[in-house]
Amino acid sequence: MTQGDQPDTDSGSRVGAAIQLSVIVPCFNEEEVLPEFHRRMTLACQSARLETYEILYVNDGSNDGTLRLMRDLQQQDRCVGVVDLARNFGHQIALSAGLAHARGGLVLVIDADLQDPPELLELMMGKIEAGADVVYAQRNKRKGESFFKQATAFLFYRLLGRVGGTPIPVDTGDFRLMTRRVVDILIGMPEAHRFVRGLVSWIGLEQVPIGYDRDVRFAGQTKYPFFKMFAFSLDAITAFATAPLRIVFLVSVLAMGLSVVMMGWTIYSFFFLGAVPGWSSGMATFLFFTSVQLFSLAFIGEYVGRTVMESKRRPLYLIRAFAAPNAPGARAGSGEGNA
Ligand code: UDP
Ligand code: MG
Repeated sequence: MTQGDQPDTDSGSRVGAAIQLSVIVPCFNEEEVLPEFHRRMTLACQSARLETYEILYVNDGSNDGTLRLMRDLQQQDRCVGVVDLARNFGHQIALSAGLAHARGGLVLVIDADLQDPPELLELMMGKIEAGADVVYAQRNKRKGESFFKQATAFLFYRLLGRVGGTPIPVDTGDFRLMTRRVVDILIGMPEAHRFVRGLVSWIGLEQVPIGYDRDVRFAGQTKYPFFKMFAFSLDAITAFATAPLRIVFLVSVLAMGLSVVMMGWTIYSFFFLGAVPGWSSGMATFLFFTSVQLFSLAFIGEYVGRTVMESKRRPLYLIRAFAAPNAPGARAGSGEGNA
C-alpha cells in the first residue's frame, strides 16, 4: 500500500502518483446493480481520458452473490481490486477501508447503486484541475425516495448544521472526489466512529460543490434501514458536537435561576399568604437540591464532552501552506543576513 506523495505539496501529488484515480465503491448486497455499475463507471473513467485508474470494490460482508461478482470483474478487468471485509462493518467503515487501500492521486467515493451518476467524474476532475481539493456532489432533487426519507434527511442536515461546530454542507452524501493530500489526512484521523463526510468538511482547504439530481436506486433495496440511519445520525452528531451536553448546562443554569425565584415565592407565601405548614420548607429544599443536581450533571457533562473530543486525537490544525522566510537570521533593515 503506497501512501502517495508528500501531503503538503499543493497539487503535485495528483500528477506524481502512480495511478491517477482510485474509485472506492462500498457494497453491501449489491449483486443486482454491480455489473451495470461497473459498465457505467468504466465508461466514465474512459471518457475522462484517464490513463491509469483502479476501481476498488469493498465487500462489506454481503450475504448474496456480491463477492463472487466482484471476483469475476477482477478476473475480466485489470483495473479492478477487491477489498473483502471479514463481516458487515457498515458503510462508513467500508468506505474508510477502501480509502486506506487506494493508491490514486485522486480518489472518488461513490455508492454502488447508481444513485450517484458516475458520469459526473469528468466535471469533478475539471474542478480539481481548477484548484479544488475536494469536489462534493450536492443533491438538487431526490428522485424516488420516500417522503419519510426525504423529510428525515432534510431535518438531519439542518439540525447538524445548527449543533455542529463544523459546517457540513447540506444534502450531500459521500459522493466526492478528493486529492491525495485530503485522503492522507483522512486516513490519519484515527477515530472509530466515523462520519466521513463530516471529517472531510473538518479538513477545510478548497471544497467545491457541484449540483446534481440524485437518481433512483438502479435495483434492490436501500441498505440503510431506519435503525442504521438512526445510529448513523447519532455518530454524526456526537462526532462533531458537544452541543447536546451544552444544552443540559444551559437548562441547569435556567433551573437554578428559576429555583431562586420560586424559593423567594415559597418564603413569601410562608409569611404572608399562610401556606400550609411544611410546604414552603419542603418546596425550597426540593428546588434547591434538584437544581444543584442538574448543575452538577451538566458540569460532569462538560468533562465528558472534553474527554470525547480529546479521545478522537485529531490533529490540532492542518496547514494549507507554509511560506518560510527567505533569509533566516536577516537583520532588520539590512538586505543580507548572516552577520
Ligand atoms: N453499504 C455498505 N454497508 C452497509 C450499508 C450500505 O457498504 O452496511 C453501501 C451500499 O452497498 C451502497 C452505499 O453503501 O453502495 C449506500 O447505501 P444505500 O444506497 O443503501 O443507502 P441510501 O442511498 O439508501 O442512503
Ligand atoms: Mg443509495
